[in-house]
Amino acid sequence: MADKFDLIVIGAGPGGYVAAIRAAQLGLKTACVEKWLNKDGKVVHGGTCLNVGCIPSKALLEASHKYVEAKEDFSDLGINASDVSVDVKKMMARKSTIVKNLTGGIAGLFKANGVTALDGTGKVVSGKQVEVTDLDGNATTYDADNIVIAAGSVPVEIPPTPMTEGLIVDSTGALEFQEAPKRLGVIGAGVIGLELGSVWNRLGSEVTVLEAMDDFLPMVDSAIAKETQKLLKKQGMDIRMGARVTGSDIKDNEVVVKYSDEKGDQEATFDKLIVCVGRRPYTKGVIADGVSIDLDERGFIHVDDQCRTGVPTVYAIGDCVRGPMLAHKASEEGIMVADIIAGHKAQMNYDAIPSVIYTSPEVAWVGMTEQDAKAKGIKTKTGAFPFAASGRAMANNATEGQAKVIADAETDRILGMHIVGQHAGEMIAQGVIAMEFGSSAEDLALTCYAHPTMSEAVHEAALAVEGHAIHMANRKKKR
Ligand code: FAD
Ligand code: NAD
Repeated sequence: MADKFDLIVIGAGPGGYVAAIRAAQLGLKTACVEKWLNKDGKVVHGGTCLNVGCIPSKALLEASHKYVEAKEDFSDLGINASDVSVDVKKMMARKSTIVKNLTGGIAGLFKANGVTALDGTGKVVSGKQVEVTDLDGNATTYDADNIVIAAGSVPVEIPPTPMTEGLIVDSTGALEFQEAPKRLGVIGAGVIGLELGSVWNRLGSEVTVLEAMDDFLPMVDSAIAKETQKLLKKQGMDIRMGARVTGSDIKDNEVVVKYSDEKGDQEATFDKLIVCVGRRPYTKGVIADGVSIDLDERGFIHVDDQCRTGVPTVYAIGDCVRGPMLAHKASEEGIMVADIIAGHKAQMNYDAIPSVIYTSPEVAWVGMTEQDAKAKGIKTKTGAFPFAASGRAMANNATEGQAKVIADAETDRILGMHIVGQHAGEMIAQGVIAMEFGSSAEDLALTCYAHPTMSEAVHEAALAVEGHAIHMANRKKKR
């Protein structure tokens, strides 16, 4: 008879593998089902994040950034680095090694924590049963007191630009180019479009980004978004807003994209095209007919704010449920549900989930924009500080960008923090912690920051909320 578990998790991405490890740490007999196959046909853990997402993209972003620094910025520092060249194949090989080490590491963590890894495809067949079809096609049904679905997401495809081997690709294909395409088209100026567009722009491609919306990065405070757009343009990215793609043709190994914008019908020709217009939940077939778990019309599993589905013993987390599609959000939900299943009280604060776009400079934010707050009728006061006025930014040759703090005008409570600048992704943790602790802008302003650091810009932005920034002419009056 098949083993019985306290918990079976379906999917070993950052949602599922974290849930499984936490549950095992809390004493639950836990199994995790995964079906992702590597190039050798072996099951690997880590999901989108480790295999084709966060990690490989950051390996390429870092390497390509260092190349541009050496080529273009070192001379500013008095370093002569002539003959800097790039070896894309080596860069790709380094990325693959990192992926291999990290995905292999999850198997090690499972062993160390006593999580049973089940290789195959999982399906919820009742509130307390998961059917696992192994790689040879044999199905086994396992009993479990609780089930967590962490099936993740896959790229959205759009009819005008069907995937075409080697020419029209999604983010996964764009992580595998063996040389920089001369003319690279990118559909979607979202997170993936800007990150992978940056990688290939730095490695020599002429990058054109076609974005359907008129507003650039609408989820980011508009002052920060505007500055980001300007900086990316300066780096050579041709970002065309309000460009609605209507069709494409393949001619002589080139991709001709048709789109319409305010000037009318347009065409652009590329050597390769990346389609990154969002991701959709990967839930088809994960739940057997007759199990009363609701999915919405896009395939997201309906859950409450503690990730409970309509069946009390089944939870769903990560990209396959509502909320931002981010690895750390998936992991935090994994920890929350494992705690709940183990009998502890747990709740997530969805208002304090940070986001980072790993362009150069990075864009990072948490909480509301000034525009969000206004739309909700909340009176705000804000403080911003440019890195151009930061001593450390000057020393780092990184004076682009600014940090902005948005606070409630009546209570002074921090509602949001938005930053564009070097290491913004590291700095935003201050905003997250401040919001988690319900801090006021004054709390940050009264905090002692190490000097000289990039983070001092956050301190100055908090001081600027009351017009008291030290290293800047303040636009606000004295108290
Ligand atoms: P996934 O990581 O998608 O994992 C789901 C797993 O479930 C997969 O391994 C899948 O094979 C498995 N599975 C599905 N169905 C079954 C089944 N029936 N049986 C068995 N196994 C199953 N997020 C960030 O926070 N920071 C970043 O920098 C970042 N960069 C990204 C870059 C790119 C190019 C992409 C594509 C995404 C990036 N993301 C980033 C998003 C991040 O990867 C996802 O939000 C995260 O992986 C979601 O985790 P998850 O566990 O919900 O799903
Ligand atoms: P996205 O939602 O960030 O951006 C998609 C963009 O494509 C949007 O701006 C949208 O307006 C545009 N678009 C949609 N249809 C279009 C069309 N027909 N023509 C032109 N433009 C169109 O999605 P993404 O960039 O594909 O990323 C998917 C998910 O992966 C995101 O939710 C993101 O959270 C996650 N991700 C996160 C990171 C990170 O945290 N650094 C990195 C990569 C991906």
